[in-house]
Amino acid sequence: MKKQITLNANWTTIIEIEYTYEKKEVDKISYADGYNIVVGKEAKIIDIATVRVNGQEKTEGKIIDMGGYVNIGNIDFKTPSFVKALFELKEEVQSNVEKLDCEIKAEKEEEIKKANSMKAEERYENLVKNGLCRKCNTFCNGDCQTK
Ligand SMILES: [Zn+2]
Repeated sequence: MKKQITLNANWTTIIEIEYTYEKKEVDKISYADGYNIVVGKEAKIIDIATVRVNGQEKTEGKIIDMGGYVNIGNIDFKTPSFVKALFELKEEVQSNVEKLDCEIKAEKEEEIKKANSMKAEERYENLVKNGLCRKCNTFCNGDCQTK
């Protein structure tokens, strides 16, 4: 997710902050015998803010809480209203991404659950084919219905 805010805008200086926070699942690559081999997946987090002053890129880096002020790249922001706005920006974007991430995870888990229950049904049908009684769920050979 990407969001841009304007910290300051008067007729001499416009300070804009563009913050990007993304979580991606990427291939984990291992280099062996001159080949790149995919050995699994790993989470990659993009966490970067770009500072523009009057449209010109000045610096970029993480939004770092320095205890009372905020650092991005080689700029420190000490004006209280800027500090507050930067914390809010970081919090809003990150919590949105976490929420989305949770939703995706829940969806995946639901899919796995569905697939597993399908397998359980298939297993059951196979057992029935092989003589399992649907009434008592044992291999009773029909005894449970004659008693
Ligand atoms: Zn039976």
